[in-house]
Amino acid sequence: MTIVTRSIVHIDEAKCTGCGLCVMPCAEGAIEIVDGKAKVVKEELCDGASFCLAVCPEGALTVEQREAPAFDENAAADKMAERLAAGAVMTQTCFSCGANEMDRPLLPVRTKGESAWVCVKCLPALIHG
Ligand code: SF4
Repeated sequence: MTIVTRSIVHIDEAKCTGCGLCVMPCAEGAIEIVDGKAKVVKEELCDGASFCLAVCPEGALTVEQREAPAFDENAAADKMAERLAAGAVMTQTCFSCGANEMDRPLLPVRTKGESAWVCVKCLPALIHG
């Protein structure tokens, strides 16, 4: 296993309520809820892209730079194939129009104190009012 200095998600367990909102945004399957807290189950699955950060209502997620196993794209693909086969992938929906991620790309946003997903079609209205 190659160790490199790179971006990787850090979870503040004291802030984490175990709500699970960060599990599905992770396209690599790196985060799971273990004993009521979010955990990066295998560091090589986390690419540090930080899509999970915006959805955490507690501010428990940050990205740090440190030594960690290099991101393993093949392991991440295997993990997600495993989840898909088990039917363990929930699609997210746009809070504004209800479109799901199979219809069009979604982005995580914070709005009115809440974490939500917005589709690219509704995003301009959110930005410009
Ligand atoms: S979204 Fe935040 S509070 Fe919820 S499980 Fe993930 S880290 Fe914990």
